[in-house]
Amino acid sequence: MESAEHLRNKCAACYRQFNRMEHLVEHMRTSYHSDHEPMCGICRKHCRSFESLREHLIGPLPKAECERIFKERGCHICLNILGSRNALRSHLNACQLPRTNGLAYRMANLGIYDNTRNYENAGGRVVALACKMVGGGSDGSLDLCARVCLIDEYENIIFHTYVKPQLPVTHFRYETTGIRPEMIMDAPGVRQVQRKIQEFLCNGEAMWKIRPKGGKARILVGHGLDHDLRCLEVDYPGTMIRDTAKYPPLMKTSKLSNSLKYLAKAYLGYEIQTGIQDPYEDCVATMRLYKKMKYQSHNNKVEDIPLATENRNNFASWRSNELERMSPDELLRISASDYYCWCLDS
Ligand SMILES: [Zn+2]
Ligand SMILES: [Zn+2]
Ligand SMILES: [Zn+2]
Ligand SMILES: [Zn+2]
Repeated sequence: MESAEHLRNKCAACYRQFNRMEHLVEHMRTSYHSDHEPMCGICRKHCRSFESLREHLIGPLPKAECERIFKERGCHICLNILGSRNALRSHLNACQLPRTNGLAYRMANLGIYDNTRNYENAGGRVVALACKMVGGGSDGSLDLCARVCLIDEYENIIFHTYVKPQLPVTHFRYETTGIRPEMIMDAPGVRQVQRKIQEFLCNGEAMWKIRPKGGKARILVGHGLDHDLRCLEVDYPGTMIRDTAKYPPLMKTSKLSNSLKYLAKAYLGYEIQTGIQDPYEDCVATMRLYKKMKYQSHNNKVEDIPLATENRNNFASWRSNELERMSPDELLRISASDYYCWCLDS
């Protein structure tokens, strides 16, 4: 049996045990546990990412009791536990998404499609962007944007075009991009596309005025957006960006990014990027991932505890002896996440 002293020093989030209270306090200072972390539906253990939750449930070294229940009525896509096998079956119909709808997919292949005017005042605050790159430079390894797509929350295409890079293309990467010289020959240049996208994202707001809440500027979803935006020469504030490559719950336990192809397979339940890749399909996958994360039901919907940052978490305002007198639950209550949970967008 666990001694009372031992239980006192057990982290209320990840259940790690510490010999001394000050070690638990130290652990809490650096763990940034919160209600926004992925959580086991059976034992309520908090995990840093869905990957570590998956390991906790399925292996290679799962927790036996949780694994048993998960095998019976756990969803292998969102990792939630359902009430019964029947409930799981109907849940899977909604959770396992079909590959993107064919019509929009074909439209994206038409060339230039510009529907931005219809979004001028209307809602649709969240948009997803994806690019396809061809190769420049002597060895073709320099990424040049040759195709870009923007969609709304409902997977409608807002804007699609091929792009003519400023530098000569030395490798079209045809096997994955499907792009041939004639497709970009008369396409708009990077500058023109940059202006278009920049204006559309800011939506009439000056860049320096853009605030995460209450403004007209749009929330931008994508995968590896730093790279896409750099290739397009678009500037956009980090507070408006939701990047599925950099969102801690969707990253590997090693804290490296997962590929979008992997995320689509694991968390949406379908294959993308088989053969020639379509930016529309990438947009849809990132948007669907974003929405799954956004509509998670977390307890702490209101951000009553300020977000912790790298150098200063909110434990700094407490003295060590005050912290050491708290119970593990109390410590968890004052702990804040060090990333912005997307559920706070809803
Ligand atoms: Zn912990
Ligand atoms: Zn959350
Ligand atoms: Zn568990
Ligand atoms: Zn599910």
